[in-house]
Amino acid sequence: MSTSERTTDRYVCPCGKGTWSHHCDYPDHAYARPSYSFALDCPECSRTWVVLSGTGFPPTLVREADRAEYQAMIERSRAATKTLQEYVTMHCASGWIEKAATFKTRKELHTWLRSNKFTTLNLPDFYKQGSDRGYDKVILAMLPWMDRDKLATHTGHRPPDALYDALDAAKEAETAAGKAMHANAITCGTVKVAEA
Ligand SMILES: [Zn+2]
Repeated sequence: MSTSERTTDRYVCPCGKGTWSHHCDYPDHAYARPSYSFALDCPECSRTWVVLSGTGFPPTLVREADRAEYQAMIERSRAATKTLQEYVTMHCASGWIEKAATFKTRKELHTWLRSNKFTTLNLPDFYKQGSDRGYDKVILAMLPWMDRDKLATHTGHRPPDALYDALDAAKEAETAAGKAMHANAITCGTVKVAEA
């Protein structure tokens, strides 16, 4: 069994009657990085608040309801993205394969794909992926990321604007929910409680 050292800092919770704590565990083996965990010790606050931690922002207390709403919005934008991409894959694939077949050589096709920024693969990698996975698969993988004008031009099929509007609306709602959550958040560590 390895032993690890744990340090705990306690801070005043949102209601002011209890604490929430910031634990740091230092494993005693080489190259191990410390791990952090957070806990709401106050029974009252733990009913309405959760600790949000991640890279790029300090550990923060957010209302459970805000977080749940934000996560629901993330799911909605994911679903809208999936719906659009599935539509594109279903309705634009044959036109895209036909377009690719109009090039005399794979090299010409690759040059055209590169110049239109449809692929970042260099020619040897394009050949390699084409022989490993099949050229149709490699070419079809570019479709979901293409904008509607290019889809219309190069596949002969323009997906309905309603699908893009639904995605834009879902992304906006996600951003708004994220902002609301962070506006209601409390960044950890403002009022530290002295160790007894
Ligand atoms: Zn509390």
